[in-house]
Parts: sequence; C-alpha cells; structure tokens
Amino acid sequence: MFFKQLSTYIHEHDTIIIHRHTNPDPDALGSQLGLAGIITENFKDKHVYCVGRDIDSLAFMGQMDQIDDSCYKNALVIVTDTANTPRIDDKRFTLGKTLVKIDHHPDIEPYGDISYVDTKASSTSEMITQWVYEERLMITSETARHLYAGIVGDTGRFLYESTSRKTMQLASFLRNYDFSATDIQYAMITQSIQTAKLSGYVLQHLKYTKQGVAYIVLSQKLLTKYGLSDEDTAGIVSLPGTIENVCCWGIFVEQPSGKYRCRLRSKGPAINSIAQEHDGGGHPLASGANAQHLDEVKIIISKLKKAAEHYQK
Ligand code: AMP
Repeated sequence: MFFKQLSTYIHEHDTIIIHRHTNPDPDALGSQLGLAGIITENFKDKHVYCVGRDIDSLAFMGQMDQIDDSCYKNALVIVTDTANTPRIDDKRFTLGKTLVKIDHHPDIEPYGDISYVDTKASSTSEMITQWVYEERLMITSETARHLYAGIVGDTGRFLYESTSRKTMQLASFLRNYDFSATDIQYAMITQSIQTAKLSGYVLQHLKYTKQGVAYIVLSQKLLTKYGLSDEDTAGIVSLPGTIENVCCWGIFVEQPSGKYRCRLRSKGPAINSIAQEHDGGGHPLASGANAQHLDEVKIIISKLKKAAEHYQK
C-alpha cells in the first residue's frame, strides 16, 4: 500500500531528492543511495539527487550531490532512516512539494505526507529491498551493493537480534547481483592505524560496574592526540560488547563545544528511553544522546546501571 502510493508520487514529480540522518551510518547511506538507484532504474526521466554531508570514512558507499535550492521547487522529498526532523541532514527538506518518511526507528515524530515505519525491520535498507523483491523491480549491481551494505551495517554483520529470517532472505536475494560482499565487510571493519590505537586505549581504560555496565569518556584532548575526529569513534563503539559480563555500555565523546555525544549500546535492557531523556533517541539496543556536561554523563551512566540491574533475561 505504502509503496503503491510512493510509486504514484514518484510518477507525479519530475525531481526526487533523498535525505537521511546526520552522522550517517551505512544504513542511512545505503537506503538513500539504494532508493535513488531504484527510482533511476524503474521510473523514466526523473531527476534524482541524494543530499547531505559526505563522510570520509564511508566514502566507499558513494558520494552526495550538490544541488541548488531551486531544485526543490515542486520536488518529492524522501527521507530515509531518520526518526525525527531535527536529525535530518540538510534542512532544505521542507522546501519540496511532497514529503515522505521511510524508517525503522521508533516513530517518535511522525512526519511527511505519507510515512512507512517498521521497527521490526533490521534496517531501512531491508525495507526498501523488500519493495524491490516483491515488485521484481530492476536494480543494478551498484544499487544491490548499497542496499546490502545498509543491511550489513545495521545488523552488525548479521549479529544483532534484529537479524530475522526475512533479513537473511533479502540479503541472499541481493547476493544474486554482481558485487563483492567481502569487500563491503572489509570496508566496514577496516580501521585506520589511529583508530586501532584508540581501540587499544579504550580496551585499557574502559570502566566496568558490578551491574555489567561499561563506559568510557573520550576527551577532545585525547582525540586530538590520536589525530581523530568524533566520526572516527564509530569504529570502537561495538568493542565493549565483546567483553564478558558487559550487558550495556556508553561511549561518551567530548565535542569541540564541550558537550558530549553519547553512544549507547545494549545486549539486554532497552536503553532508548534513557537516550530520549537526554536529547536523543534510537533503537532499544542502539541509541544516541547528547549531554551538556560531565555531570549529565554521570547521570546517564547511573541510569544505565539501573537499567542493567533491573534487567531480567
Ligand atoms: P550512533 O551512536 O550515533 O551510532 O547512533 C545509534 C542509533 O541511535 C542510530 O540508530 C541513530 O539514528 C540513533 N541516534 C543517535 N543519536 C541520536 C539523537 N541525537 N536523536 C535520535 N536518535 C539518535
């Protein structure tokens, strides 16, 4: 039903502009670039653009387009993988004629003329792949690569519980196309020497609580010492989850403004309500928040401890 309406919208608009969230991950980019490929290949004579800031560490995914504000006149704007409007990268998403949301995060802010939210889907890329699969749409190997990378990214290479039978079926369908899944996996796990050194630091200095919470605060001074930026911390976020008895964890990254980006993860208790209480949100087991100062970081850590303490398997 949703994709039928989306197809109608696409037919009715000459220009389609696709946005996704700030600080993109492979699913944000994969769903965005994958959808752009699907529209280009299946709908004739459309101008399709992907916008947002390019991220060096995800350059293997593809490049964004640079477009003028005038392109938004009468355009269809589709936002993928983004729960709420403040998180949409490139604020011009309001300039189009029609707005559509496609996402798999909890629907904390419904927006758009139509929206499709499936919190059971492992990734937004999986939701879009299902459209291709069911409608037998044409896609190139590059589009299949984008969608596959999105699924691989958000499932932690098929590790997380969100990986369902359907996820595997759709990923398997994408593997019919000619791209190297191994190259994608390596691109995702390959880190710079500086990030590898930061991993060493994290493993050495991670703090553990008796409730099974692990946490670390990374200061600007430390990031500068390692020659890293906030974006580079993506490579170390999953590390604490590989350590015994750790059930949930937080990586708190000081920003140049003095505030802290909080990257929260869990293998058990839901932590997204904690993120929501601190200017953030996300999935039950993978969320992000913002803390104004170290005292707020400490409050978040104590909430993680409480969540871990009350969690029953
Ligand atoms: P991150 O730690 O940035 O990799 O984010 C983990 C998950 O939480 C992703 O699904 C993000 O989309 C979501 N998320 C991160 N930061 C925020 C935020 N400030 N508001 C809402 N959702 C967020």
